[in-house]
Amino acid sequence: MSYDARDYCYFNLLDTMKKRIFLVNDASFLNTGYSIYGREILKRFHNNPNFEVAELGCYCDISNDQIKNIPWKFYPNGVSGSDSRLAEYKSSNLNKFGQWRFNRCLADFKPHIVFDIRDYWMFAYQENSPYKKYFNWVVMPATDSAPPKNEWLYTYSNADVVIPYTDWAKSVLSTYGGKNINLFPKIANAGINPDEFYPVDDKTSHKVKFFGKDVSIVGTVMRNQKRKLFPDMMLAYKKYLDKIQTSNPELYNKSYLYLHTSYPEDAGWDLPSLLLEYGLLDKTYFTYICRQCKDFFPSKFQTPIKECPYCQKGVATISNPSVGVNTEQLNKIYNFFDIFVQYAICEGFGMPQVEAAACGIPIASVDYSAMTEVVEKLDGYKIPVNRVFRELETNANRVYPDNDFTTKLFYDFFVNTSDDTKLEKSKNTREKCISYYTWDNVYAVWEECFNNIDVNSKQSWLTAPTEHISHKNNKVPKNLTNTEFVEFICHNIINEPDILNTAIVQCLIRDLTNGIIVKEGSIMPIDRNQAIQVLEGYLNNKISCEKMRTQPSAITKEDFIK
Ligand SMILES: [Zn+2]
Repeated sequence: MSYDARDYCYFNLLDTMKKRIFLVNDASFLNTGYSIYGREILKRFHNNPNFEVAELGCYCDISNDQIKNIPWKFYPNGVSGSDSRLAEYKSSNLNKFGQWRFNRCLADFKPHIVFDIRDYWMFAYQENSPYKKYFNWVVMPATDSAPPKNEWLYTYSNADVVIPYTDWAKSVLSTYGGKNINLFPKIANAGINPDEFYPVDDKTSHKVKFFGKDVSIVGTVMRNQKRKLFPDMMLAYKKYLDKIQTSNPELYNKSYLYLHTSYPEDAGWDLPSLLLEYGLLDKTYFTYICRQCKDFFPSKFQTPIKECPYCQKGVATISNPSVGVNTEQLNKIYNFFDIFVQYAICEGFGMPQVEAAACGIPIASVDYSAMTEVVEKLDGYKIPVNRVFRELETNANRVYPDNDFTTKLFYDFFVNTSDDTKLEKSKNTREKCISYYTWDNVYAVWEECFNNIDVNSKQSWLTAPTEHISHKNNKVPKNLTNTEFVEFICHNIINEPDILNTAIVQCLIRDLTNGIIVKEGSIMPIDRNQAIQVLEGYLNNKISCEKMRTQPSAITKEDFIK
């Protein structure tokens, strides 16, 4: 195997002065939390002359119009419903997170640094890339509770750098991972742009415009999912209303709960039943969005379809994962609130807390996981934990807040706090937010991390092909333990001893020892033949990756690589 002249030409075009960085993410033009994070970081790196940027956008196929507006190199990961590759795409549930195109795009871009900020199960496949010796792998895993799973720790210890998302993440990862994990000393956080989230000039007239009167609002912005405590929050609010109904009817008449959330959701709370049960149908607002004109308005719950008051044409529904508000609209929604509540069993960060704070809304959050430090830094109200419990799915500690405390907090805030104090609190909240949580601050940490990475610590992408790699058909000795058996294959047949320490191989050894494997809800027996299949898959992948790297002109052209 040797390079042909065309390949050398191509390699010479690579700008050796710049660090090439590669992010796998949802897609930077979308409005998911990861998309926003990726966009804010990538656009700053793109403007820095020392870096060259590329992105693998998972939730986007090649027909998407917005790709042409992305100023950096972009590889779409998805395929349309009519694409001939759809079956291949669907053959693994990791392909939607980029697995099937990851190595092909790396072979094209040849990055010095590959980074990912998503959940563990979305990026873990990158650990086993045969190209890992050519790039520095940097991850920032969302860490929302403790203890972390063992296989997560294996994977993190194989990353070149782990950037802690929060102080909480830093303490969890250093407690459980110890020296095995190369933690970056600074935390990255997430952030806001102060000119996108800000207080409106006249809050009262802003409310009157949307509600027809002045209102007192407890608000939250949370996806409708199991770990967000909508029932508890409703209960605490209901008890607060009960306290003021007769003692302060004027306040009662203008008091509302505002839930900017999603409904219906696949695995979400049954919100209408909860409203009915707690008697809150008339006391709770949701965000409705018109499918036609995309405008939004607050409304009490009704059957999810109604006529839009702006265009009178479209039907409007509560926002859901595919129909959401834009940043400008979200800023208006935060400005309805007098106090913002984050009510969850755990959070890896809890972005809406910071967005609300930038709008000058005082924050109340549960005193657990990353919520603790966010509420502390924003000088907000800590809601004490009532009970810690162990969650089955994650084997991690999660918590329930003290609802009675929350009820009392609402009462003290709306009944016993003067307008001057509230105004002071609002100003302070925004100031604190801007001092800690801006995208510029977040970027500064990432930039420092990437500047510190010595690209020469890894092998060059131009390293000559290994002649005669002997993936020879070695005879496996008899009487090996399961661990020895897997070790023998990794050392002598695949020639990659490093993969022994990856989560996948460690779990394989564990499952072999148990003789059973739990996969997608069912328990199946596993023996050495299946283990060989898994390792053989790795070997075949390694061989095809080596071909893509060393003979790019011999590889089939792909439409997602331009
Ligand atoms: Zn409309």
